[in-house]
Amino acid sequence: MRHEGPKRMDDHDMTTAAFIGLGNMGGGMAANLVKSGIEVCAYDISDASLRRAVEAGCGAATSAAAAVQEADVVFTMLPAGQHVREIYSEEILPNARAGALLIDCSTIDVESAREVAALAVARHCPVADAPVSGGTAAAEAGTLTFMVGCDQKHFADVERALKPMAKAVVHAGAAGAGQAAKICNNMLLGVSMIGACEALALAEKLGLAPDRFFEIATQSSGQCWSLSAYCPWPGVGPQSPADRGYEGGFAVAMMLKDLKLAQEAAARSGAATPLGAQAEAFYALFDKLGYSRKDFSAVLQFLRADLEKLK
Ligand code: NAD
Repeated sequence: MRHEGPKRMDDHDMTTAAFIGLGNMGGGMAANLVKSGIEVCAYDISDASLRRAVEAGCGAATSAAAAVQEADVVFTMLPAGQHVREIYSEEILPNARAGALLIDCSTIDVESAREVAALAVARHCPVADAPVSGGTAAAEAGTLTFMVGCDQKHFADVERALKPMAKAVVHAGAAGAGQAAKICNNMLLGVSMIGACEALALAEKLGLAPDRFFEIATQSSGQCWSLSAYCPWPGVGPQSPADRGYEGGFAVAMMLKDLKLAQEAAARSGAATPLGAQAEAFYALFDKLGYSRKDFSAVLQFLRADLEKLK
């Protein structure tokens, strides 16, 4: 049932939240909301995910519709655009109280984000797309970076709602701009990681020690985050997934998902992204070979034709 007697945004007290989608990311995020003193009503189609959320102090709802009824703020952290569109149109919008703040943190396509934002505005609910940078460790530690697409007048409320889970909350622009920022950033990351790996593989063939190349390139014009902060060569640079068998970082499957979203967006908007397309094809091949769960920096060993290192 829809609750009337709307709360206005300027008197939003945000004491009660609904959280839908308590997987690898959502589980840690909901736990941080609980720690900050917010009452969280959780829902997930997976009993195991819901159980973990209850252990972290959330209340369990029997459906997404039930979870959102009393909420001041509704968070979603779901796999893809289709899940977000369905849950917004069928469960959240018909049941959220008028004026409830709706924040989708999933990584989805820009069109779906704009579509649900338009539906929410038609129901007088302030809405934001707020995808994240940072993996499960940042979700657990409450140190995610949120890229927010929303009406400027709602940003202060969105920022306040996200704070218990955030290191930084950045306003990217209007509805969909958060998703645009996320896929552009991750396309750049995918391309730059392949570039760093190719440079390291070539350096090796030329007889240059990887640690020497690292020291030189990180102080030269080839410097980039993929090399200097997340070096794909084991034992070189700061600790990274390469030092633990490429486990526990940003999975190849996740990178591939984001590169596909970037290519779909490029095709729709007419942007030329030839290296983004190459990166997608390369990660798709690596994924197909069975390395979807490895960290995305493991493509170094694929380029070096040394897949034994990934066993
Ligand atoms: P996940 O698969 O672990 O979690 C998704 C959860 O949503 C699952 O528990 C699933 O049961 C639940 N779910 C699916 N459909 C549902 C529905 N209709 N109703 C209720 N619950 C439903 O995925 P994740 O790793 O937590 O990622 C979530 C989102 O965050 C994705 O969009 C992903 O691209 C993005 N993301 C992930 C990472 C990462 O490192 N894992 C990093 C940044 C962004």
